[in-house]
Amino acid sequence: MTVAFKKIAFVGLGQMGFPMARHLVTAGLPVVGFDLSMAALEQFRTAGGKTADTIAEVLARADCVITMLPGGKIVQDVLLGGGAPLADAAETALIIDMSSSAPSDTRVLQSRLPHRQRLVDAPVSGGVKRAVEGTLAIMTGGGDRDVDEALPLLQKLSAKLFRCGPVGAGHAMKAINNYVSGAGVIAAIEAVQLGQAFGLDPANMVDVLNASSGKNNATDVKMKQFILSNTYGSGFGVGLMAKDIRIAADLSKSLGLEQDQLQKTAATWEDAAKAIGGTADHTRIAEYLGRKT
Ligand code: NAD
Repeated sequence: MTVAFKKIAFVGLGQMGFPMARHLVTAGLPVVGFDLSMAALEQFRTAGGKTADTIAEVLARADCVITMLPGGKIVQDVLLGGGAPLADAAETALIIDMSSSAPSDTRVLQSRLPHRQRLVDAPVSGGVKRAVEGTLAIMTGGGDRDVDEALPLLQKLSAKLFRCGPVGAGHAMKAINNYVSGAGVIAAIEAVQLGQAFGLDPANMVDVLNASSGKNNATDVKMKQFILSNTYGSGFGVGLMAKDIRIAADLSKSLGLEQDQLQKTAATWEDAAKAIGGTADHTRIAEYLGRKT
């Protein structure tokens, strides 16, 4: 399927946005990138991308706008704040928010879109490595026809696409996924710390877990790679993980559920982010958990 967009504004060229936008450039699509960071803009230009100097310039006449920003409030500020730059995008532009935003923010954004613009949420999972490989999981929320229109472009980023429901459903699914992921990280770290206290070898423990029913994403791709190696270089900040699990915890409360483990997991990640700083790699929660014991 061909991508029909004439100007794709890509806002947010960070750890994830940069490799994703680069895939679109490599695919020959008419992408213009924007980020507040001069270093991010320079990196994108070096990779062959075009950039704009201002948010107004990148959004002007764009018929597709992709956001890959820290969260939904920032997406709203960037698109609708100072001078409402989104109003200068094409009248029927398709907005695709790939950030991990709260579904409530996504629905507010949808209600405030100018003209006849449409919104699809399409957050991703898999981290920087899979963004670079083009193997992310992408979960969409939006009207069927709008998602259909986004698909040929999203397929340039990955073949693993999942339709989750109306606007906000992709973002809800993403937060729920990160609850499972974040709880798994804590369980894997505490398990290895417990084994070490007993005298077990940590690397051997990870091998055993990965051959056993205790295997999870953290034992598989984080424990040896980033934690036991003391490199802490997954490219996903602890503040972003805390934000994602808070979204899931708030969603749970808003639906009247009493899910104690989810609330505790959200609080643990928030406490860790406060203690070690939100921009620290999320795998550094191992140091925080180690300190507490
Ligand atoms: P990041 O901090 O590396 O990148 C965010 C980028 O947004 C930065 O380059 C920053 O300069 C830019 N930015 C912030 N405010 C801006 C503004 N007002 N205008 C323009 N640019 C602005 O974060 P990331 O790790 O790339 O994450 C981006 C999103 O993807 C987040 O919502 C995160 O939760 C989600 N996510 C991250 C990962 C990961 O492994 N890093 C995985 C899946 C999803």
